[in-house]
Amino acid sequence: MKDFTTMGLSPALLKAIQELGFETPTPVQSKVIPIFLKSDRDLVALAQTGTGKTAAYGLPLLQLTDASKFETQGLILCPTRELCLQIVKDLNSFAKHTRGVRTLAVYGGSPIGEQIRALSRGAHIIVATPGRMHDMLRRQRADLSLVRWVVLDEADEMMNMGFQEELEAILGAVPESARTLLFSATMPRQVAAMAGKYMENPEEILCGSRNSGSDTIHHECYKVHARDRYVALKRIMDSTPGLYAIIFCRTRVETQELAHHLNKDEYHADALHGDMTQDQRSEVMGAFRARHIQILVATDVAARGLDVNELTHVIHYNLPDEVELYTHRSGRTGRAGREGTSIVLIHYREEQKLRMIERILKKPFVQKRVPSGQEVCEAQLANLLEKVRQVDTADGRLEPFMPVIDKVLAELSREEVLKRFILLDFDRFLTNYKGAPDLNAAMSHGLHGGHEGGDRRGSRRPEGRMDRQDRSDRTDRAGRSDHPEREDRPAFRPRDPDVAKLRINLGRRNSLTPPDLMALINRATPGPQLRLGRIHVTEHASFFEMSRQDAERVMPALNRTTHGGREIQVVMETERVPGRRK
Ligand code: AMP
Repeated sequence: MKDFTTMGLSPALLKAIQELGFETPTPVQSKVIPIFLKSDRDLVALAQTGTGKTAAYGLPLLQLTDASKFETQGLILCPTRELCLQIVKDLNSFAKHTRGVRTLAVYGGSPIGEQIRALSRGAHIIVATPGRMHDMLRRQRADLSLVRWVVLDEADEMMNMGFQEELEAILGAVPESARTLLFSATMPRQVAAMAGKYMENPEEILCGSRNSGSDTIHHECYKVHARDRYVALKRIMDSTPGLYAIIFCRTRVETQELAHHLNKDEYHADALHGDMTQDQRSEVMGAFRARHIQILVATDVAARGLDVNELTHVIHYNLPDEVELYTHRSGRTGRAGREGTSIVLIHYREEQKLRMIERILKKPFVQKRVPSGQEVCEAQLANLLEKVRQVDTADGRLEPFMPVIDKVLAELSREEVLKRFILLDFDRFLTNYKGAPDLNAAMSHGLHGGHEGGDRRGSRRPEGRMDRQDRSDRTDRAGRSDHPEREDRPAFRPRDPDVAKLRINLGRRNSLTPPDLMALINRATPGPQLRLGRIHVTEHASFFEMSRQDAERVMPALNRTTHGGREIQVVMETERVPGRRK
């Protein structure tokens, strides 16, 4: 294995990284640093976040920059403000003992005036998001004509975020002679095309295999019915004491709902999504980094650039719409040489998507069973006993109280005292998981009223289910009784003349399940829960029943929305022209 001292780095940089505790170079550093320092070739490196790539390009860039020349020599482009600030912070810590190199962050979402003034004072290295950098160029506030090195960090993310035009404009403004170094976790076509257009015969570096996930991440999959997702999530979390995780959801609303329910169930969770102000985001991220929050529920976009190294788990509450995003999400764990676990909760119709992800990862998911109530309790008990074992009583803080303790507990045997102390903390798990059902999805399912499972209702109540809770909250407001036995029955008789049958242009081929459809309808029509009759999902379309009055509300609301990128079309069955299926 290479050593930092044999790579040609200056003593000042070596001293700084030693102070940072970097002992051995990571694979991407072993490969990139010598090439960057000693050759003139462009470079394409496939490397995940968390592999140490900032130092891989940052150290040579700092070393090669000539601080005596007052011109911008290095340009680093990255997708988000958070990453931009992180890179500048890293560069500054690497340059702690290196004199004179000025680094500047230029990013969107904060007043441009101040950044313009900073730019006019000059910077050797600019770290920028493409949108704001492009803006600066159009305003002629940045001079890139003497740039010698361009680094594209998380190139695939920049493309995903739609920055292609800005990137092309920026690359067009730097001299052709500039060296370009591109870092990307995946290599989608767009990124390869840009590399082909702007880079000359680049050296290719693979850290891990192409488009594959990091070796330090274990990929696990739990197959559950969609309606059991929340309960399964809680079981997985409860059987993993010490969990420090990001849970990914697809939409802002989902992150909020999930965080809300987790909080209600006494987990330390908060949501992070794109509609929050910068101050709110910073506050949540600060609390998460400080571990005041144990679980961050985030959308893909909001979690970009979030740099936390110690995550034990990434949990995919929903699979991402684009399979490529999976590697980005899971790459948030297993960082800096640590092991991490990426957990996927799927229902059985999502298997195909899972197979696609496996092809990208080039490794299979380990199929896991949702822990039983007994297993959750065992894990919690083991954790509690370990904590008891580690309590330090040596300093005698309790001694003054021992006479009272002895007196009060004198009648109890040692075993009885133990039991009682353990139950103080442990009782809630025993109560919560009493009679908890098996949540692992069987392959058979029914279609009516979104009910997929068998007769497990009665015993499920203690654990609480998010969607059930939602429904009962909302039906209460609507004045309907919330008897668990009655909850999932069709709300009216199918032949009722007031009942409308609707057709929606989504079916099994769009991975739609009855619970998905119910969720779609709920989301499109806020307020009291609408009563649904029979639901029938076919390959290409689905059919559902509801009162005509509700149907008049639901149709326009649903027709304004999309599902998995597809525009939704809902029509009333009686209105359809025979033979003209959409
Ligand atoms: P990056 O991929 O650049 O975001 O780096 C991920 C994390 O790994 C950062 O917190 C770095 O400080 C840390 N890191 C980078 N290189 C090393 C190294 N050689 N040894 C230990 N930690 C490192």
